[in-house]
Amino acid sequence: MTTGCLFCRIVSRDIPAAVVYEDEQILAFDDINPQAPVHTLVIPKLHLSSIAETTPEDAPLLGQLIRVGSQIARDKGVAETGYRLVANTGRHGGQSVLHLHLH
Ligand code: 5GP
Ligand code: ZN
Repeated sequence: MTTGCLFCRIVSRDIPAAVVYEDEQILAFDDINPQAPVHTLVIPKLHLSSIAETTPEDAPLLGQLIRVGSQIARDKGVAETGYRLVANTGRHGGQSVLHLHLH
């Protein structure tokens, strides 16, 4: 847990969120300000600030995040019509919360 990190506080249930998926390593919850009819965030419970901070050891976790995203898309009924999985990264990438997340 990184003190002051919004998404770490959601992981620790310090701040409430509409959780749609959870396992040992990953948490997914609906975006508070949805930009699409289905807009969910998938995050590692471990604090990593962005894709740019990851190392080769994080590859399995990154793969799992994508798989969870695709499972949620199926669960929410958008898999057939299609969707985007996006990781805004850094200032010019439009990242506002510095805890790695997939939209
Ligand atoms: P970014 O801009 O970093 O790629 O995405 C951050 C996302 O987090 C935004 O889409 C924003 O709406 C969402 N967000 C910010 N604060 C909260 C919050 O307290 N709860 C939830 N569920 N989403 C949040
Ligand atoms: Zn964090």
